[in-house]
Amino acid sequence: MIKMALQIYDTLSRKKKTFKPRGKIVKMFVCGPTVYDYTHIGHARSYINFDIVARYLKWKGYKLNYVQNITDIDDRIIKRANENKEIPAKLAKEFENTYYEDMRALNVLSVDKYVRASDNVKGIINQVQRLIKKGFAYQIDDGVYFDISKFKDYGKLSRQNLEQLKEHRVEPNPQKRNPGDFSLWKKHKAGEPSWPSPFGAGRPGWHIEDTTITEKLFGPQYDIHGGGIDLIFPHHECEIAQIEAVSGKKPLVNYWMHNEFLLVNGEKMSKSLGNFVTIRDALAKYSPQAMRLFFAATHYRQPINYSEENLRNTNVVYQKFVDFVLKLQNVKIKASGKVDTIISKAKKEFEAAMDDDFNIAGALAAIFDFMSEINKLIDSNKLSFAAAKKVYKQMLDFDKVLGLNLSGVKEEKLPAELMKLIKEREQARKSKYWKTSDRIRNELKAKGILLEDLQDGGTRWKKA
Ligand SMILES: [Zn+2]
Repeated sequence: MIKMALQIYDTLSRKKKTFKPRGKIVKMFVCGPTVYDYTHIGHARSYINFDIVARYLKWKGYKLNYVQNITDIDDRIIKRANENKEIPAKLAKEFENTYYEDMRALNVLSVDKYVRASDNVKGIINQVQRLIKKGFAYQIDDGVYFDISKFKDYGKLSRQNLEQLKEHRVEPNPQKRNPGDFSLWKKHKAGEPSWPSPFGAGRPGWHIEDTTITEKLFGPQYDIHGGGIDLIFPHHECEIAQIEAVSGKKPLVNYWMHNEFLLVNGEKMSKSLGNFVTIRDALAKYSPQAMRLFFAATHYRQPINYSEENLRNTNVVYQKFVDFVLKLQNVKIKASGKVDTIISKAKKEFEAAMDDDFNIAGALAAIFDFMSEINKLIDSNKLSFAAAKKVYKQMLDFDKVLGLNLSGVKEEKLPAELMKLIKEREQARKSKYWKTSDRIRNELKAKGILLEDLQDGGTRWKKA
């Protein structure tokens, strides 16, 4: 069977390219969190996006090795720990754990390996040594820096020329050869964690941890590197410089993928702007499924506006999936209708959309068309039990990519008399018999059943 070709937009070449893995296993790396606080939903956008990318690659039949780093050595961690009078490593470990909890809650399960910077200091020192030896790095009083004027491709990812880049003052130190030279190793300062090294005790710069980890696990070149667009410069530009200088091989990766921001009133959601909502706070109000759909519904290279209203609307969309799956489970008739053509059409449309640089909105549209066609068959009693089973199986297949846990959707049964009461109240509500409606609601509440009235006139119940 010929696989339809997946197209991925590559930031380096600024165009969509046909996906061709370098080897039998696709190697993908995405920048992980700096663990000094709870993760906010701006980050969740990136991690959910790449979770869907990973799920889709597997859905297409690729074998995948997906690695994320954990930045547990960083200025912000040290600052926060000092404010809290805590040990930085302890604070980092705590927030590393809350990060994993948040990812599990969001059903982001596709990362094969999380790798800490602190577990790779030896490798980092080795990479810095090689850069010095090759003449790309030099040592001054406060640490080791990369000399950007020595690497002629510097600026190729962010499309800036050397003159522009030389003036970017990434770290201030008048001894630097160019203001834009970036730090590979920071010399120890009082109150900071440090490791011994040939260039004096200190700690690694931020960019060098990623290339050390990927060189160790993937080699000098691999398939996909992802992250938010704010990481293009300087972070990913510096990664290219480090590893391509040290290995003499290019490109570092064949596909650079960058997701756009989550915006709040037109501004990027970020901790420094103070306009953020943590994943925990959001999950206290909305289901993980609604959150996943909220991010999935907009293409990853488009900004998304955060609003509670948008999330509520997405919850309604998720409910459509739930209702559909429940409806399929209830089909009992032995009609003769065939669904194979409808299923294969939906599958083709889904795959065509996803193959177009992970156009999940298009893929969702294909699923909604599919659901509405099947709904018509169900409503006119033309969907058989056997066909419903096939449709259900296809929904679970789509869900391998979406990650909505549809296989867990099961109708909870209440005793018949309670179901009857719920129906009676729904009727009373529709007829605007408010007193009766309220009386039944209270009666059910006393029995531990809470009712939620939906905008479409229906009612949902849950156990208190
Ligand atoms: Zn990174």
